[in-house]
Amino acid sequence: MTAKKSSLVIVYHRQPYEEELVGDKIVYRENKSPNGIVPTLKSFFGRVPEGKGAWVAWKQVSPKRQDKFERVIQIEDSYGKYAVSRLPLTADQVKMFYHVTSKEALWPILHSFPWLFRYDTTDWNTFREVNWLFAEAAAAQAEDDALVWVHDYNLWLVPGYLRKIKPNLRVAFFHHTPFPAPDIFNILPWREEIVDSLLACDLVGFHIPRYAKNFADVARALRDVHVDKSVRVEDGMSPAGLALSEPEVPTAVRHNGRRVGIDAFPVGTNPQFVAKVLDTEANQTLQDEITEELAGRRLIVAVGRTDYTKGIRETLQSYERLLERRPELHAKVKLMVVSVQAATGMRIYRDTQREVEALVGRINGRFSKLNWTPILLFSNAIPFEKLIAYYRRADVCVITPLRDGLNLVAKEYVAAKRGQEGALVLSEFTGCAIEFPQAILANPYSERAMDAAMDQALDMAPDEARARMAAMYDTVRRYDVARWAEHTFERFAEIGQFDQTTDPATLKAG
Ligand code: UDP
Repeated sequence: MTAKKSSLVIVYHRQPYEEELVGDKIVYRENKSPNGIVPTLKSFFGRVPEGKGAWVAWKQVSPKRQDKFERVIQIEDSYGKYAVSRLPLTADQVKMFYHVTSKEALWPILHSFPWLFRYDTTDWNTFREVNWLFAEAAAAQAEDDALVWVHDYNLWLVPGYLRKIKPNLRVAFFHHTPFPAPDIFNILPWREEIVDSLLACDLVGFHIPRYAKNFADVARALRDVHVDKSVRVEDGMSPAGLALSEPEVPTAVRHNGRRVGIDAFPVGTNPQFVAKVLDTEANQTLQDEITEELAGRRLIVAVGRTDYTKGIRETLQSYERLLERRPELHAKVKLMVVSVQAATGMRIYRDTQREVEALVGRINGRFSKLNWTPILLFSNAIPFEKLIAYYRRADVCVITPLRDGLNLVAKEYVAAKRGQEGALVLSEFTGCAIEFPQAILANPYSERAMDAAMDQALDMAPDEARARMAAMYDTVRRYDVARWAEHTFERFAEIGQFDQTTDPATLKAG
């Protein structure tokens, strides 16, 4: 059991390590790669005295085994010593809370796909119950005035519950997804309950100003809420004319005499790590092998989770039209699609996967030659180190979500190119599009716009391609993951200092 309570509690649905079965014992291993959101969040434990950090996640445990299940374990890894509270959930709770209510009702609304919103199957009571259990588990780890940092929409009700359990906590929330405008958000029958919970926070964070503004609009429409302060969005984060540009962003609202901070700052990637990996001998060999296998063909990459929001269909269809339109490209280009299947067994993801497979099959069937297959499809995750070798060698990266909170793949592609020639075709509806006006911004809702973007990417003069990548590389380096952590930490300081480490040497860059 925990000896002492924590001053920083991170609540995130995934566990902060990888479990491995060695013989009949489970061993907790640090995630192999420092890339990704989990290591970034863990780096915050370097900001509090040793042992004063805790993490809350869920773990599926059968009802029979729940009595003996060890809920709180102590972990020691290169991020320090911290407690992990594992909330045991039954398979049924996971299904109703996560796969059904979160993914079939909330996810389509967040991504502006209201026609996929399913109300009849949702189980709001289980959603409430699991959120309450999360809040209890977090409160049990927290000192009375600790900062509890809750992540993502599936834990939307946790802040309100935490306020009830321990009123003096500081509560911050970060959305990893988009946040839609009121006309879409208000489709949720539970909108008031959700907004009341978010208004119980001290700080509510988003990737970009548009989502922050949408949240303030939703809150103002549903409750007696006044915008306390708005600021002009700094240059470079709001280029005029883009689909997600927003010239002004609220930084705080007032409700029931309380101030609720609002923040908009996009998570970054880790370009130093990407560069380090690319420079290793093993990775250089891998890159050379890729070049050899391509045999002079140009490589286009498209990488994402298998999700209807990610626009994989739109990428494939535009590639098919490209091969129809420009026969001179036959056998001269290759599209590598990484569409990583979610392991949830959900019907909607199965359908998306089948559609991707069918499209790939059709396009390969139509255009293949004995010595050329136009598309290479990977349905399982590729290790990050290998993925960046492909990015490095890719002439074009195509990212065309219909809606996406941020999209780290775009940032990783830019990081891997390191200012060298390359082209990024990027949907205007991904959060990071406002950071990358130098990308070839495309509208995935328009075939003509997609076709023009593909042509532009393949025909761009090398000097222009280099200049654009160099400008984007500057942005990726300036707004890297360490900068995001620094910014977030500054906003935390505004809602009250918590017990911090005095030894800056223990701080780990994200
Ligand atoms: N990723 C990976 N291997 C793969 C596919 C994806 O390591 O085969 C990583 C990718 O590099 C990125 C993350 O998964 O860091 C996906 O993040 P993103 O923001 O693009 O999309 P999300 O899945 O969070 O919506």
